[in-house]
Amino acid sequence: MANTLDQFRLDGRVAVITGGNRGLGQALAEALAGAGASIAILSRQPGAAAVAAAQLQASAGVPCRGYTCDVTAPEQVEARVAQIAADLGGVDILVNNAGINIRGPIEQLTPADFQQVMATNVTGVWLMCRAAAAHLQASRHGRVINIGSMLSLVGLPNRTAYASSKGAILQLTRALALEWAPHRVTVNAILPGPFRTEMNEQLLNDPATYQAFISRIPLGRWGEPEELAGAILFLASDAASFMTGTALVIDGGWTAR
Ligand code: NDP
Repeated sequence: MANTLDQFRLDGRVAVITGGNRGLGQALAEALAGAGASIAILSRQPGAAAVAAAQLQASAGVPCRGYTCDVTAPEQVEARVAQIAADLGGVDILVNNAGINIRGPIEQLTPADFQQVMATNVTGVWLMCRAAAAHLQASRHGRVINIGSMLSLVGLPNRTAYASSKGAILQLTRALALEWAPHRVTVNAILPGPFRTEMNEQLLNDPATYQAFISRIPLGRWGEPEELAGAILFLASDAASFMTGTALVIDGGWTAR
């Protein structure tokens, strides 16, 4: 290979990012577009994905499209993935980023809370993988990247639903990696620690909680969404061609303690 950096290029590949309209998903979409991939952004809010896609297309100069889709709805997921493949010419990279968190002591969470978190964070990922299977397997560079969490590995109080869902994501990643290895589709996860996004607004706005988190992060600060760019580019590209069924932990050192 002439230049090692060339293996990180994604020109001509199609990347689908669930929840790519804001937060970590938006930063992931920007990173992939910056390397030349065409981008499909999915969001539940009518218009939100289209707006984000139009902005990204203007700034990155690659084809970007937005789609309204609730990842918990099987028919919507099937229809949108088929539409994306028709619009953009296949699916090479699937980034399962959409997720929610409902925090609270177990006695105060309702069964509906638990089910909603599991439906979005686990069933949604499973449905997206299932819908994109044929396209990923037809690609010469099929990649799935699931966004788990440091709570895929460790616990935290008041996170029973979320930690259950993120633990499941790591196991889904491993099982599907084995299942799709014969098709040369790799399946990996990124496990972020605390990052500044809307999901954590409540924690970021409470000075005591904010400081309590910082005291547990060896690097002494929250992460910025752009700090996932290198990891997603690596996992989505040919640079990670011999890596499957595993995860990159990007948590400022939280889980090293
Ligand atoms: P945000 O709340 O900022 O964004 C969540 C995204 O998911 C939004 O784009 C939202 O789109 C989308 N989404 C939620 N539910 C659905 C659904 N049913 N169908 C389609 N899209 C949906 O969260 P973050 O950016 O912080 O989180 C992104 C991912 O990273 C999540 O999986 C989260 O668990 C994980 N993560 C985040 C960490 C952090 O510190 N921020 C740490 C570890 C993991 P819309 O509302 O427009 O539908």
